Amino acid sequence: MNISKEYFLCDKCNNKNFIKLRNFSVQFRNVNFSDELIYDEVIEEIYQCTHCKKTFTKKQVEAGLKVLINEKKKTLSPS
Ligand SMILES: [Zn+2]
Repeated sequence: MNISKEYFLCDKCNNKNFIKLRNFSVQFRNVNFSDELIYDEVIEEIYQCTHCKKTFTKKQVEAGLKVLINEKKKTLSPS
């Protein structure tokens, strides 16, 4: 079995080392005719390039990895 690792590369400097950050924000929402205060916690994972400090959202990283995997599939199974 071949185990291959896919790397997400920074599109600015081609670095593959990232640190994981958390973008934590709380959005408050007032509800009419109620004492209730509803709040949504939005925690987004952010990855920052250790070289050029460019940040990527988790979605961007996942999309980038998908492209890499699809490219690899194409080269592994020529039709
Ligand atoms: Zn970078």
